[in-house]
Amino acid sequence: MAVTTPKQSTSDTRVEHYRAAVVHDFHSPLTVEEVDAKALEPGQIRVKVEASGLCHTDIHAAHGDWPVKPSPPFVPGHEGVGIVVEVGPAVSEVALGDRVAMPWLGYSCGTCDHCVSGWETLCLEQKNTGYSFDGGFGEYATAYSRSVVKVPAGVDPLDAAPLTCAGVTTYKAVKVAGTRSSDLVAVFGVGGLGHLAIQYAAIAGGRVIAVDLIDEKLELARELGAEFTINAARQDPIAEIQALGGADQAIALAVSPKAFEQAYGTLRRGGKLVFVALPADNHITLPIFETVLNGITIQGSIVGTRTDLREVFELHAAGKTRVIREVRSLDTVNESIADVEAGRVAARIVFEL
Ligand code: NAD
Ligand code: ZN
Ligand code: ZN
Repeated sequence: MAVTTPKQSTSDTRVEHYRAAVVHDFHSPLTVEEVDAKALEPGQIRVKVEASGLCHTDIHAAHGDWPVKPSPPFVPGHEGVGIVVEVGPAVSEVALGDRVAMPWLGYSCGTCDHCVSGWETLCLEQKNTGYSFDGGFGEYATAYSRSVVKVPAGVDPLDAAPLTCAGVTTYKAVKVAGTRSSDLVAVFGVGGLGHLAIQYAAIAGGRVIAVDLIDEKLELARELGAEFTINAARQDPIAEIQALGGADQAIALAVSPKAFEQAYGTLRRGGKLVFVALPADNHITLPIFETVLNGITIQGSIVGTRTDLREVFELHAAGKTRVIREVRSLDTVNESIADVEAGRVAARIVFEL
């Protein structure tokens, strides 16, 4: 039987306007306001958002922190999860009523060398949700059907939201780190990303050392499987971790260049440092001589693929991971950003729409 795809949009709701949190410029708070729903282009779907996590990347986006900036006005959010309520022309991957996650990698071309080799996250044609097009901080969002991932029935949408970026990113970072049983893994930063990184490193068999500046976060790290914790505000993580033999891998998730340099210093010979966090201050200083003589590897890791996200959902549905989240309304977006910046959030804030 031939598969036919609709030439026009099909929907069970007509959406003309919806409430969303909008960035108008990089120096003002977001405003929660009515925005116009755009007509769907071929390959696009409309999703009624149920839950949307607040990633530190959304804060960087709202502040225009990075060398490549988004163009205001825009709606941030790349941990949106919700139900498909409209499918545009030429959509066959999802159907009305499906629950989907809308990750950072909002579109990839599907045919370049990166896309066909399982590295769509490196696609040069990529578009990013909540950055190059409007994202999940709204009652509705549009997405490309090929880039969303279905959320399995056993996963609560409020958990699925943080898994859609914090989860997939750290799951991939641990894969890239190459963590194997008995490896010592230093996780710098126990925030939205870090609290999941600890769990994925432990699932891979690693012995985890968590580093943060806030005692409550280190307490949570221990609950989630960290064997050692270090408060870098009081202790020297390099001396402490070298005393344990040095880290086989260090994963840099703290929004601080200094933490990257410290993470480097914790490595044992042959160790690997994985860059994940993206602080506004874009440079660090590392020594050439020690990197060469100690055979150190440094690797960047950008989010994860759809396959990685499927695996993340599978692990969660199987009860292998815990998502620590605080549920709030979208109206709290500005105070929520302030709370993340001040470290007043246990792990992740999730907006319930
Ligand atoms: P977060 O604010 O939830 O967590 C950051 C944590 O780092 C906090 O617990 C904070 O207390 C801790 N911290 C700050 N300074 C520290 C220091 N000097 N030493 C140790 N800990 C320190 O942020 P998040 O949502 O987890 O995101 C972290 C970073 O990762 C952001 O820069 C974000 O943009 C980036 N990110 C990158 C990717 C990627 O694909 N590479 C994906 C998502 C997020
Ligand atoms: Zn591509
Ligand atoms: Zn993110």
